[in-house]
Amino acid sequence: MLLKIVQVGVPVLRSGTCPLTRDEIKGAEIQQAIEWMRETMREAPGVGLAAPQVGLPLRLAVIEDIADVPEKERKPVPFHVLINPQLTLGAGVVEHYEGCLSLDGFQALVPRAHAVTVDALDHHGEPVKIEAGGWYARILQHEIDHLDGTLYIDRMHTRTFTTTRNLTQLLTSDAGE
Ligand code: ZN
Repeated sequence: MLLKIVQVGVPVLRSGTCPLTRDEIKGAEIQQAIEWMRETMREAPGVGLAAPQVGLPLRLAVIEDIADVPEKERKPVPFHVLINPQLTLGAGVVEHYEGCLSLDGFQALVPRAHAVTVDALDHHGEPVKIEAGGWYARILQHEIDHLDGTLYIDRMHTRTFTTTRNLTQLLTSDAGE
């Protein structure tokens, strides 16, 4: 089932989230929510979707990236679930344009840590440790921000905020010169 992705201004995007117990994770309701979030993320399409974006104030997100873009250090990431994640930022900052399914049609330049470590639970409630760099590290920071009620517009260089259409035109004309 496809879930409705809420847009900026809906309070659940700003209110923070509750952690899940291992029993809750293994229960039918959360397993169903994970399945529906996966379908919704793929349909959007997006590379990550956090529970608040579908109206659920839970410390849960799904991630999957199929793209391979060397200049952004972006490589395919298989589907996985992040529950109750704890984020540790590594050294070094990189800036790229990023967008959000809850701010449809816009992007901005956002500085993010180049590498991160995440301790979380997987969809079975088992502990996992993720060491990530490049674009995957950006996705993790973006999704975990959602769980804390933070959006990329809180971190962006404000004067780079643009519609995706204008950004695409800008990048296309750059490439032509
Ligand atoms: Zn987002």
